[in-house]
Amino acid sequence: MLYEEKPWDPIKVNPQDKKRVAYFYDSDVGNFSYGANHPMKPHRIRMAHSLIMNYGLYKKMEIYRAKPATREEMCQFHSDEYIDFLARATPDNLDLFNKEKFNVGDDCPVFDGLFEFCSISGGGSMEGAARLNRGKCDVAINYAGGLHHAKKSEASGFCYVNDIALGILELLRYHPRVLYIDIDVHHGDGVEEAFYTTDRVMTCSFHKYGEFFPGTGELHDIGVGKGKHYAVNVPLRDGIDDVTYRSIFEPLIKTIIEWYQPSAIVLQCGGDSLSGDRLGCFNLSMRGHANCVNYVKGFGIPLMIVGGGGYTIRNVARTWTFETGLINQTILGPDLPFNDYYEYYGPDYKLDVRPSNMYNANSPEYLSRILTEIYSSLEPTKHAPSVQMQPIPADIRGFDDDTAEDSKEAMDTKGGSQKNRDEIVVADNEYYDKAEDVHMVKNYSDHEKTNSNSLSESARDGNQVMPNSANSVGSTAVSSGTASITQATSLSNNETK
Ligand SMILES: [Zn+2]
Repeated sequence: MLYEEKPWDPIKVNPQDKKRVAYFYDSDVGNFSYGANHPMKPHRIRMAHSLIMNYGLYKKMEIYRAKPATREEMCQFHSDEYIDFLARATPDNLDLFNKEKFNVGDDCPVFDGLFEFCSISGGGSMEGAARLNRGKCDVAINYAGGLHHAKKSEASGFCYVNDIALGILELLRYHPRVLYIDIDVHHGDGVEEAFYTTDRVMTCSFHKYGEFFPGTGELHDIGVGKGKHYAVNVPLRDGIDDVTYRSIFEPLIKTIIEWYQPSAIVLQCGGDSLSGDRLGCFNLSMRGHANCVNYVKGFGIPLMIVGGGGYTIRNVARTWTFETGLINQTILGPDLPFNDYYEYYGPDYKLDVRPSNMYNANSPEYLSRILTEIYSSLEPTKHAPSVQMQPIPADIRGFDDDTAEDSKEAMDTKGGSQKNRDEIVVADNEYYDKAEDVHMVKNYSDHEKTNSNSLSESARDGNQVMPNSANSVGSTAVSSGTASITQATSLSNNETK
């Protein structure tokens, strides 16, 4: 397929098409600091939250504080040794550990509260996935997540625990195929690697490629083994603008969704692809970035939104706020409401992030060439793979037992009346169109409680990254007998990429 420039249409929403949105926020997250001169600022999540609240979006969605992810939960993807290190290392005792082994240092410093920070990020994505799984929301949002560079046994690119891989593993318990889309300016290498050898997860990353971190994400990296053709990389040059980005994003995502037929989508919304980012080199306006969110949302497939990079923090907060509005079918007005961090938004105090006049190095010829190659690689995915399912493993969060998560403790702030609608029983197999998927889908009304230990070898000694059922002690698990899941695999180590 050749590149064809589409004119820019103003972003539209349909107020009638109400989504049930679960928004995860932990008020502790803004207190963590990577260090004064480090570009990654967890504070930006608090800034976004304040703006979101002051625009009144709490009236339209349910707001939750997720249970922080435990060591055991993190070990569904990560190695025990690495998580043990994250849990025990502090700035004061770091000399006792092999820092090089886990790649901590300048980019990924060990800071006070590091493990707690990772727990908040990971917990939000896991709980978001769990709510989507049970049809309790249509969209889950976790801006503390999106840490796409984290590897099984090491930190990378300001990321320590890969909340996205954890969330996708949770989704795979119910969903035969999950699509991961990454619009951060950096390649989504940690997530790609986690699912590089499986067709259960398709990854699609749009990123700057060429003398840029992390150096991976080349056009011809398309997956291996069963995962061949199920990794898509869109290597871009500096200065891509709204029109150009949209003109490749929309047709490519449309094709992937039509061919692959995912039953859940995870969208990483890194804000470092915005114009004027401290580390990025793209030229997207807030609306160009948000158009991706709105476009993906329009397919009506259960969707998880996670954060990611973003280093000009006022612009990250602006954009994630605008996108939260779109998810709630609202186009927010241009004047920022008063909020806790109002002074950050001067001198104009407006919502928009505007593009600059930087040169767009992505020529139509270049984009035609990469699109042509991507489409030819995608050809074999035309017919979505069916999945041979095994029994769903124990839910180690205990979310299959519905009593816990709607308690007063779990509901941080109530906004509106979504909870009542949550009570509506989800129709069996609602998300599955394909006949061959139907038999393997959990029947929500037919839960049979058991502590199933049915699935999966541990992640720790091989390539397997599926939930480690040995960790399910004390949780209430569900097995319907027909619902099942196959194992996803990861590359066994980073050197293979
Ligand atoms: Zn990034």
